[in-house]
Amino acid sequence: MPVEVVTPKIRGFVSLSAHPEGCAREVQRQIEHVRRPASEWPGGNLLVVGSSAGYGLASRITGAFGYGMDSVGVFYERPATDNRTASAGWYNTVAFTEAAREAGLAAINLNGDAFSAAVLEEAMEAVRQIGPLDLFIYSLAAPSRTDPVSGQTYRSVLKVVGQPVTMRTADMANGAISEAVFEAATDEEIAGTVAVMGGADLERWVDALLAERLLAEGARVIAYSYIGPELTWSIYHHGTIGLAKADVERTCRRLDARLQAEVGGRCWVSVNKSMVTQAAAAIPSVPLYISFAYKVMKELGVHEGTIEQTERLFRDHIGPGRQPDLDEEGRIRIDDLELRDDVQAAIEALWNQATSANVAELADIDEYQEAFRRLFGFDVPGVDYDQPVEIDRPLP
Ligand code: NAD
Repeated sequence: MPVEVVTPKIRGFVSLSAHPEGCAREVQRQIEHVRRPASEWPGGNLLVVGSSAGYGLASRITGAFGYGMDSVGVFYERPATDNRTASAGWYNTVAFTEAAREAGLAAINLNGDAFSAAVLEEAMEAVRQIGPLDLFIYSLAAPSRTDPVSGQTYRSVLKVVGQPVTMRTADMANGAISEAVFEAATDEEIAGTVAVMGGADLERWVDALLAERLLAEGARVIAYSYIGPELTWSIYHHGTIGLAKADVERTCRRLDARLQAEVGGRCWVSVNKSMVTQAAAAIPSVPLYISFAYKVMKELGVHEGTIEQTERLFRDHIGPGRQPDLDEEGRIRIDDLELRDDVQAAIEALWNQATSANVAELADIDEYQEAFRRLFGFDVPGVDYDQPVEIDRPLP
């Protein structure tokens, strides 16, 4: 059994190592944030696709420990080898599953490519075991997708659409700010991004769940989306990924009509706040924006992490018996605090003044870096990082 001292191995947007104890503590912290006594749990059945990290993990934790939901989680993570730790999402899922089962909740895990026919089929079998779903949350963030029918592989790119754009960005390792030119995507790149991060795969999952009668009466389907501030619109909201998210919204409107007709259910997009996650770290300019946003939102007392966001999503919008407040496009907006005028005005003022020389004072670069390392179980309070730990943790 490999026991070793685990240190961060950060390369650009990822850490090649993850700390099992640190990940477990982070999961426990999230559980404690939402935990309600079992006597108050309404129960229910939940499927989360993309359940091992970020918004999907927080959603699974909220459903389980806030509402007593049995869950199936689908994710794509790497187990440990003799000389390499598992990925953070693997350790997160081990910790979640141990805690859920200890609390008497069913927690079934499927590690594999959610875009594949085989994983979808296995997931249907797993859902059959817990029973028809009350809630299905789709929280996938992936760089590529192989279409299970055609066999064609699509790649997602983070590029602007139309004309090249010059935008402020930062090297988050040292806070160096520069103006970078972002090239416009080709038509093929746009189509590839929509094929990966658009609504096609969500629709395939809902088709299968409806065909197998695995959505309970009144079931709710939620897909996560992001709009973000105008500062980042050229690369995000108006960029390739924004077109993919627009496709998700169109898909959700279609699915909403079908769910209403077939099971008295609903399908909504939830637009979430900018958050330090593995997926967000890869988007140009967004990490710099986040380091301003975290600082301003903390100062104004409105900062939230993923678990605070999903707790509020369930409590105010999608939990049992709740009807969501929707914007004029029919979307749930838990990015409302971030996009408040006073918050955005404060962020924009900092953003416009920032240079490599003063960014450390103006932005929370340290907090960004810490939050990033915490995604991999590092910088977590209470963990003794000098102690060797068992890195081979099988999924329970
Ligand atoms: P994340 O990187 O933290 O997690 C992605 C999840 O997807 C992980 O569980 C991973 O294992 C899983 N995954 C990736 N490829 C897979 C595959 N092929 N098969 C099965 N599972 C796979 O991502 P995140 O930032 O939490 O993003 C999740 C959703 O939330 C996305 O739709 C994203 O657009 C949205 N969102 C993110 C932010 C943000 O700032 N991070 C803000 C608003 C909305």
